[in-house]
Amino acid sequence: MIGSDHSPTTPPVSEQQPEQHVEQHVEHLLVGAGFAGLCAAIRLDGDGERSFLVVEKGDDVGGTWRDNTYPGAACDVPSQLYSFSFAPHDWSMSYSPQPEIQAYLQRVARESGVLDRFAFRTRFEGGTWDEAAQLWRSRISGPDGVRDVTSTTLVLGAGSLHEPRLPDIEGLDSFGGTLFHSARWDHGTDLTGKRVAVIGTGASAIQIVPELQKLVGHLDVYQRTAPWVIPRHDRRYRPLERAALRHVPGLRKLYRTGTYWARETYVPAFTLAPRIALPAKLAALGNLRKGIEDPELREKVTPHFELGCKRVLISNTYYPALAEDHVDLVTDRIARVTPTGIVTADGTERPVDAIVVATGFHATDLPIARHVTGRDGRTLAAVWDETGMAAYKGTTVPGFPNLFMVVGPNTGLGHSSMVFIIESQVAYLGDAVRTMRRERLGAVEPEPATTARWNARLQRRMRRTVWHRGGCSSWYLDEHGRNTTLWPRATFTFRRQLARFDAAAYRTRPATGSPTHLPSHAPIEAPIEAPIQKEQSA
Ligand SMILES: Cc1cc2nc3c(=O)[nH]c(=O)nc-3n(C[C@H](O)[C@H](O)[C@H](O)COP(=O)(O)OP(=O)(O)OC[C@H]3O[C@@H](n4cnc5c(N)ncnc54)[C@H](O)[C@@H]3O)c2cc1C
Repeated sequence: MIGSDHSPTTPPVSEQQPEQHVEQHVEHLLVGAGFAGLCAAIRLDGDGERSFLVVEKGDDVGGTWRDNTYPGAACDVPSQLYSFSFAPHDWSMSYSPQPEIQAYLQRVARESGVLDRFAFRTRFEGGTWDEAAQLWRSRISGPDGVRDVTSTTLVLGAGSLHEPRLPDIEGLDSFGGTLFHSARWDHGTDLTGKRVAVIGTGASAIQIVPELQKLVGHLDVYQRTAPWVIPRHDRRYRPLERAALRHVPGLRKLYRTGTYWARETYVPAFTLAPRIALPAKLAALGNLRKGIEDPELREKVTPHFELGCKRVLISNTYYPALAEDHVDLVTDRIARVTPTGIVTADGTERPVDAIVVATGFHATDLPIARHVTGRDGRTLAAVWDETGMAAYKGTTVPGFPNLFMVVGPNTGLGHSSMVFIIESQVAYLGDAVRTMRRERLGAVEPEPATTARWNARLQRRMRRTVWHRGGCSSWYLDEHGRNTTLWPRATFTFRRQLARFDAAAYRTRPATGSPTHLPSHAPIEAPIEAPIQKEQSA
């Protein structure tokens, strides 16, 4: 039914059979082949760290951009910025569509020469830190069965917006028609001429609705809270522009830098004084008035919280789509789903053939945390159940030596490119590994007191941000109302904080066994076939 491929029944390694037959050792085990895993692999390889294995449960690189294939899927940060700094691209549009981003990631993976160490269709089942041996013992399962892998470091690039979150609606399971999450689009179902419902009005929904309405017979859009939607300054690059960007030295970098700083001007409005966002608010209200004439519908889609409190959305086509005759915006609360339709709190039942659930992801309760067990035998999820999702510099966690998260707690952005954050965290990882080699360290983990101070400061800052004071509830906040997802400062500050691995903030232990830690090991065995190698270049 719903396309989540996560298996909640898989127990963490700590609960599995104790006898571990080690079949393979790598210096670095990386989980996930999205922007994060790919970036980490390229960086490690570039630093001469050849012994690593990237496990990816999907059949290709791309992560977000492999999975989100819904109609209208595109980035909402300009492509010149939403791409690796070290791999520029000849983008066709200012905000590129999903297929182009996915092709870009495939090209980068292929050309970087690291794919021989990627294992696709291979799931990281769990990893446990072995204190005596100073290494991670992990279990992975793929087409060739279950394997145990040991590694000096464990790098989690498993995605923070990866695992679909389903709404808690009575009867959802009883629906007799087609039902799927926006991130697992069912391309086998033809929705032409059908009655369809979209639940949610977040970033994915506002891209889906304008495309879907062109196709379906009738569309109901279920809205809980009206989002702010500013105009999307999107366009196809003219051939001359593309040629100039390709050939004029420095032009692409200039463009990227300009885009970066333009985006950074949003930060004070989000973190200091929401009134600075007035021009954006006026642009959003203008966008609304331009797209919708009906006063009643206008009122329904007018947001009643500060701009930025929830993710600011960008679209020129969402409001006109809602204004179409065959599209209804439903603002009554959903009471239940029946086998044939959706019933709202006022008792109205609207029959539908298909339901698209666009209600986001498990962002504040990362599923991967249940599968990582630290020094004292507790999983990361168990630790976070007590403390809330938290890490040192969004990357490392006390009690979990040599664990690096790329896109960890409080590293998300509401205004700019996650690739900038990913590259910053990967640089930190690279410097940590170099430091471990140089200083002959077997294990590094952040001091609990330093980590606590880092998070206390971060949460203090958080209190004055629009995400806390903007009058909304959002997926940025966990069940206790704590913002564990976003970085509350400028992104250049994040980069500066992570520019060097600050060993002084870490509890370190000398390497045991081999005199030259990280010790060198035999090359890893042949990886599972990588389908990407068959793809055409972007
Ligand atoms: C629809 C959508 C649009 C977005 N648009 C933007 C944008 O415009 N700008 C922006 O900055 N950000 C955007 N984001 C955020 C986006 O997720 C990040 O920019 C980026 O793609 C994250 O990369 P990642 O590698 O961290 O995670 P992901 O891309 O999610 O990749 C994680 C990978 O880990 C794999 N994995 C997870 N668990 C396991 C396991 N147990 N074993 C093996 N493999 C596993 C997954 O299969 C996946 O391939 C968007 C997100 C979504 C959902």
